[in-house]
Amino acid sequence: MFGAKSRKSERGELELLRSLIKLANDLQSSLELHEVVRVIVTAVSETFGFREATLYLREPGSDEFRALGTVSERPDYDELVFSRPVPQRIWDELLLEKFQMGSSFYVDHRRHDWTPEQLHYLPSLDLGERQDDEFHPEDALFLPLFDKHHCLLGVLDLYDPVDRAQPSLELVKSLDVFAAHAAMAIENARQWEELEKTSAELARQLALWHDLHDLSTVLLSTLDQESVLPQLTTMLKGIVDFDTMDIRLVDEARNELVPIYARDENAEVMLDFRSPLDVGVTGWVVSHNEAQLVNDMTKDPRGVVVPGTEMEPQASIVVPLNVRGKVTGVLTVDRLFGRVFEEHELETVRLFANFAAIAIQNALSYEEMERQAISDGLTGLHNYRHFQDELRAAVSRAERYGETFCLLMMDLDHFKAVNDTIGHQKGDDVLREVAAALKRCSRESDYLARYGGEEFVMILPKTSLSEAQVVAERVRAEVAAVGVGGRDLRVTVSVGVASFPESARDTDGVLGAADAALLRAKARGRNRVCLFSEDKTAAVSALDGDLVALGRRFADRLGLSDEEAAGLITALAVYESGGRVSDEVQTILGETVAEPGPAADEVRQNAFDALLYGSERWDGGGYPEGRRGVAIPRVARAFAVCRGFHEGNGTGLDRLRGEASREYDPRMVQRFTSMVRTAEVDSQ
Ligand code: GH3
Ligand code: MG
Ligand code: MG
Repeated sequence: MFGAKSRKSERGELELLRSLIKLANDLQSSLELHEVVRVIVTAVSETFGFREATLYLREPGSDEFRALGTVSERPDYDELVFSRPVPQRIWDELLLEKFQMGSSFYVDHRRHDWTPEQLHYLPSLDLGERQDDEFHPEDALFLPLFDKHHCLLGVLDLYDPVDRAQPSLELVKSLDVFAAHAAMAIENARQWEELEKTSAELARQLALWHDLHDLSTVLLSTLDQESVLPQLTTMLKGIVDFDTMDIRLVDEARNELVPIYARDENAEVMLDFRSPLDVGVTGWVVSHNEAQLVNDMTKDPRGVVVPGTEMEPQASIVVPLNVRGKVTGVLTVDRLFGRVFEEHELETVRLFANFAAIAIQNALSYEEMERQAISDGLTGLHNYRHFQDELRAAVSRAERYGETFCLLMMDLDHFKAVNDTIGHQKGDDVLREVAAALKRCSRESDYLARYGGEEFVMILPKTSLSEAQVVAERVRAEVAAVGVGGRDLRVTVSVGVASFPESARDTDGVLGAADAALLRAKARGRNRVCLFSEDKTAAVSALDGDLVALGRRFADRLGLSDEEAAGLITALAVYESGGRVSDEVQTILGETVAEPGPAADEVRQNAFDALLYGSERWDGGGYPEGRRGVAIPRVARAFAVCRGFHEGNGTGLDRLRGEASREYDPRMVQRFTSMVRTAEVDSQ
């Protein structure tokens, strides 16, 4: 419509200017490339009156120009142009100086013979019949768009003007202005796209770093594997969604990948599947120490079907777990149902796996530390501390389920002599051999611990006393068979057996009963098994009657010094005689303190302490001074225990145990209990 100067009016020019301004505004209002392209082709066709307009843009980083938008009335025209990217050389042939008009290029059919190749790439040319002074079907108008570095950004192919006029200089000038705006709008849109991509990537990375930060916090605060893996993988799922995931550790001895954790779809099946080290993508990842993304496992020649699952379309990311450069396992995340992974997700899982590897390593070393804390360094059996917990647990289990269990207490015979003969170090070897012998005698469900020095304990769950006796006899025989360094020396063991609830109804009781039975085995000549048997009343009443004898025995049990023992006994004698220093007391004093001197003074002081502080309470609630715990003289605590037992009149033991930690020193009560048990056995 602006083709010829003669037809152009002032009004028309103003109209065009307005259109251009509006166009510029339209172009600025959108930042999305396809929208910008659409505005450009529509505007150029409507404002400048062309039935066809096609915008070709250079593919970033290539020599090809792709049609991104077109306006045309011809059917299937879009498809045709969109499917044929135009190579740079076609433009080089057409944007020649001889065709140039302003910034545009008008290819006049009279000055150019179209090559078959040009016709192929530019389907706009329609070689139909028309007058020679009009825009001819073999003519073409190209409007190049340049970027800010004056590189060819794209070409607007304008065709079939409504007024059929050849382009005028005025028209191409307006088109030049338009082209400059259009090029700018395209560049902006491209930059925006880039920016959006980058900011999306930055946001993704930022989110990832936040997650990884959270992850390291979790790692620092959690040490046991059971809770660290669920936490870790929940975080991973928040970053890279998956349907299934599992973690496998390399078991070199078995040449297998052993699953330690799996979750979500098929988790149970995964946990059951131990894969050979050299099989599958996981095997490949382990041997190459390289992560893999496989978006269609059915097509991967390395793929294996986990028994119990079906070979279905599955995408997997498999990454090695590395600890100090060594592959310790693999982490696999899968998407099922045709969902695939993107490349950047591989990177994320890999980053994540670095953390997971450390977490797992930490958890494993922690477990190892825990294992060490409960086991005995010399023999590898459980240690004393762990045994105490286990015995308590055995008692409560047996109580809950109404079961019976047995406790074996074992002490090697004359082991001091063994040490003296072969040396302490070889003695240690013997202890290890003995531990191995004990293991051979125990079942899977039995519990073994080193109680101390050359003493061992065994808990036999759901076992009667007579069954335990059989085990104890085997233990005795096995230990007797242990060689002691080729010399003519034998190591033997004495075993005491007690049962719950038959021998005693609580932890201390069972322990005391087994200890008592052991002492009896020693007393009867060693290298033998003794069962605890109950004759409580006789023993207790035997002790009940004679407070002084009880004191003597207890002092011995506690390992009191001679002066403390004499002080305790004196105090008990005075107490028994109702506070008078009777003849009997005189006799006792005579027995305990032979001649005057510092030792006699000490005995007197101890007796005095026992009587004065004998009414203090362990919990600090007694008199005269309200002393608490070990601030009460030892002799006074022992005095209180003996007196308490004596006053109990047959139920003394229950009274002591009921008041342990309140009125009485709990450790003394424990020793007293065990002493009474021994006495029970001795009296049989
Ligand atoms: P018996 O039990 O038959 O009455 O006599 P025993 O000589 O075994 O006496 P007791 O049980 O009281 O003494 C334990 C001895 O065991 C003392 C020590 O020489 C030895 N012993 C304790 N712990 C260890 C140890 O860890 N290694 C070695 N080599 N010897 C130990
Ligand atoms: Mg011992
Ligand atoms: Mg011993």
